[in-house]
Amino acid sequence: MKREDIVALDREYVWRPYTSRDDQQNLDPFVIACAEGTWLYDEDGRAYLDGNSSWWCKNLGHRHPRLVRALKEQCDTLVHCSMAQTTHRQAAALAQELADVCPGDLQRVFYSDDGSTAVEVAQKMAFQYWQQNGRPTRQRFVVLEHAFHGETVGCMSASDIAAFHKHFSPLLFDVVRVPSDDASSLVEHLYRHGDEIAAVLVEPMIQGAGGMRFSSPSVLRSVREACDEVDTFLIADEVFVGYGRTGPMWACQHAGIAPDILCTAKGFSGGMFAFAATVATERVFEGFAGDKARAFMHGHTFFGNPIGAAVAREVLRIYRDEKVLEGIADREAMLRTAFESLPGVKNPRALGMVGAGEFGESGYLGRRGWQISQAARAQGLYLRPLGNTVYLCPPLNIGMDDLALMLQKLADAVVQCR
Ligand SMILES: *Cc1c(COP(=O)(O)O)cnc(C)c1O
Repeated sequence: MKREDIVALDREYVWRPYTSRDDQQNLDPFVIACAEGTWLYDEDGRAYLDGNSSWWCKNLGHRHPRLVRALKEQCDTLVHCSMAQTTHRQAAALAQELADVCPGDLQRVFYSDDGSTAVEVAQKMAFQYWQQNGRPTRQRFVVLEHAFHGETVGCMSASDIAAFHKHFSPLLFDVVRVPSDDASSLVEHLYRHGDEIAAVLVEPMIQGAGGMRFSSPSVLRSVREACDEVDTFLIADEVFVGYGRTGPMWACQHAGIAPDILCTAKGFSGGMFAFAATVATERVFEGFAGDKARAFMHGHTFFGNPIGAAVAREVLRIYRDEKVLEGIADREAMLRTAFESLPGVKNPRALGMVGAGEFGESGYLGRRGWQISQAARAQGLYLRPLGNTVYLCPPLNIGMDDLALMLQKLADAVVQCR
């Protein structure tokens, strides 16, 4: 099959995410044939640096040899079995290993498939907990402006990106939405209405899809204190920021706090496999003690899938053996310096392996970011903007030479679009 044939089939049969039919007809997609490390190669043999970690999940790059081996080896023994009355070594061992690297006393692991389900599970856990533990009025979630938590109904309800969710607003449940850069109104709301609140849900340190908005550890600490004060749950959506994306293993660690429920996906499987987990404290789990009627009523076909679990275990071993987190500080400094020196950039910033800045008028439907993205493509850099927010989110273990090259290509693209 030639490149044109693939594009023709895509146009005729695929329904692409976030793309109208007309845009799809005009789209000239990257047609990727293979990938390795930080590089994507298209059907014509052109190479692109992956500045997006293929939607923020390839934290260890493409086809890390140890992850490929773990996946293949697992295929030789057990590819899938349900976790209804059964269990298997990979899901059981991973649960312990994940609990060991989680902050605080998070230790009960509920598996699922992707970031959206991991968050939806967290919401349902918190909700059902209060329903059956004497506080049935706790039915609302406190969430932040500019939040993005995924695409299912609960996640959309908690999210705040009009371009994504406006069509569905009549379907969404009511939440309490407070500013993200200042904890005071959140704290005040909790003190006044704590008994209506099932949980506070946050993306710690960086709101990703909302525009790579950074916040400070003090916001997280205030939120944690207020949740403790009124005794309600804090849910950390670490789907994007976890697994070292912001520097430490978990973004919550910037503030030295632990949530009651933590959601992980994306980097959890090194982007090898759709795989996710929601980790709860023993206290949350204890709220489901008792008979059948008190069970958490949620589950998925591929819950704890052996391939996903085997790969996720190898991811943790690679983080340890290759000291992945230790390498981030130097790369973060390079990202920061590079973004600060881009001509015309506003609010340049970097945290961990995220560098970002705005160009032109802001907004998700802005065009300037897309022009820069087009110019980057011509330079051999895959970069997907959020409107006029241009960011890089490379694999955490990107080689220093590749990172320098990526930053040079970005600078060239920005200069071309002046
Ligand atoms: C990507 C993302 C999600 C949704 O994850 P999917 O795997 O795309 O369903 C949820 N929360 C955050 C913070 C994300 O970045």
